[in-house]
Amino acid sequence: MDPVTMVGLDIGATKMLGVAATPDGDVLAEVLATTPVGGEEVVAAAASVVAELRRRTGEALDGTVGVGIPGLVDAGRGALKHAVNLGVDAEWFPIGDLLAARVGAKVAVDNDVNAAALGVAKITGHDDLVYLSLGTGLAAASILDGRLRRGVRGAAGEIGHIPVDPAGRKCQCGQVGCLETAASGSAIAEAWPVTGTPPAQAVFDAAADGDLRAVAVRDEFAARVADAVRVVALTVDPETVVLGGGVAQVGDRLRVAVAHALAEQAADSPFLRSLDLPGRLELVPLDVPVAALGAALLAEEPR
Ligand SMILES: [Zn+2]
Repeated sequence: MDPVTMVGLDIGATKMLGVAATPDGDVLAEVLATTPVGGEEVVAAAASVVAELRRRTGEALDGTVGVGIPGLVDAGRGALKHAVNLGVDAEWFPIGDLLAARVGAKVAVDNDVNAAALGVAKITGHDDLVYLSLGTGLAAASILDGRLRRGVRGAAGEIGHIPVDPAGRKCQCGQVGCLETAASGSAIAEAWPVTGTPPAQAVFDAAADGDLRAVAVRDEFAARVADAVRVVALTVDPETVVLGGGVAQVGDRLRVAVAHALAEQAADSPFLRSLDLPGRLELVPLDVPVAALGAALLAEEPR
């Protein structure tokens, strides 16, 4: 057996993916399961995924199990709250200790966006990046000079809740006109309601076919994502900004649309042009489970 095989779990609102991987990031086994509702139920399902990874690899996998999960995470205590979709809300839920007791291994917990950023850094080799997760909401994670920045309250990167439009829509966080009300998968779904196909896919497809209304929705979305890119670029000036999350499934045309919006926004600003933001944009690797791999890498992160 190989004692250094890493284990990571990417626990999402509907599905969880577990991987066993080498320290170089090569995936040895993957297990996909449904995420149940309720803290205790999530712990039980996660333990089953670890058991299945042990069965498939034939290894003890008794090092640290890393967990990336949506919500507010206290990485030091391995506790979770405000993960409404998982049935965990206002009280701290000790997911780390409960899972550790079930699987007989140490458990490291962090939020899913931080975990994904670690996976992206490993796969791309960049050690100075901001990862923008364009999913139901909008959030960022920063790895600066090789170090993950969580913030003292674990809220670093919650840029989706920067208010940018006083006349904008009410946000689920209680404020008005937050960036994520315009730059997220939910914003696209509201502007382009479809069933069957993911809304982002539908909009980008229709725009490519010349539907002018779809072009307008796509370009407005891209411009608001470009706003988010400017916020992170002008705050921490990272080497690379990586676009990821569910919306990134539309492929490189997302990067192209946002790069185009950034170039337009810089047209009258020699200052902005000099920063070459379009040239620093990348799309998340789509052929690798970066969030689960990144969760596995949490074992090596200081908490
Ligand atoms: Zn908000």
